[in-house]
Amino acid sequence: MQLRIIGYWAPYPRALEACSGYLVSSDSAHLLLDCGHGVCSRLARWLPAEQLDALIITHFHPDHYVDLFAIRHSIGGALRAGSRSEPLPVYMPDQPKHHYQAFAQMKELQVIPLTDQGNYTVGDMQFQALAVTHPMPTFGIKVSYQNRSLFYTADTSYDQQVVAAARGAKLLLCECSLRIADGEFARQLGHMTTAQAGQLARESGAEILVATHFWPEYHPEALQQEIQPEYQGRIIMAASDLTVQI
Ligand SMILES: [Zn+2]
Ligand SMILES: [Zn+2]
Repeated sequence: MQLRIIGYWAPYPRALEACSGYLVSSDSAHLLLDCGHGVCSRLARWLPAEQLDALIITHFHPDHYVDLFAIRHSIGGALRAGSRSEPLPVYMPDQPKHHYQAFAQMKELQVIPLTDQGNYTVGDMQFQALAVTHPMPTFGIKVSYQNRSLFYTADTSYDQQVVAAARGAKLLLCECSLRIADGEFARQLGHMTTAQAGQLARESGAEILVATHFWPEYHPEALQQEIQPEYQGRIIMAASDLTVQI
């Protein structure tokens, strides 16, 4: 299984880059986790959207879903041209209702609601949705393939719920929105600090931590220095087009 970083900024991207978007590929299937600002364009560097097997929206904050409006038209073009025969399966929370219903009406998409602890199959990969703590319904996603797994936290506070959800995954793709000094602000917003990302990686037993969801005002190197005291495993700071084999 391969993870490719398509976009990793929040809540807006740096120049020519993208917000949350992570392409997970097995030998025969492609699954896109989230689809924030700029992801449609950045994804096209590697994979035409029409070749996606499924897409997951973890929650309806714009930096995680707005480019689904663009992907939808890309799928529509492929359906008209005959290069794709089926709508794109898109998994998403069914709340807030107006977001869910807007996408459910689009004929280019096959919208499927996520449920807590629900198990799903995409080609030869499986994934499980696990509710996490954020100001709106949000799901962390554990993707499994050939006895290996990655857990994507989506956006979440640090708590025992996300520790339990992440446990057992070889790779932890973890939001790392704020610095240690912003701890109280992070708690109010439903995000994690650098130190909490390191703590989660340690407590969940992950072999690899991929830290992501950076605010453009921060320097990833400075964030990494705050993670290191908390976690002795391999730390990878998300970057455009970076790939990790799992
Ligand atoms: Zn969010
Ligand atoms: Zn976000």
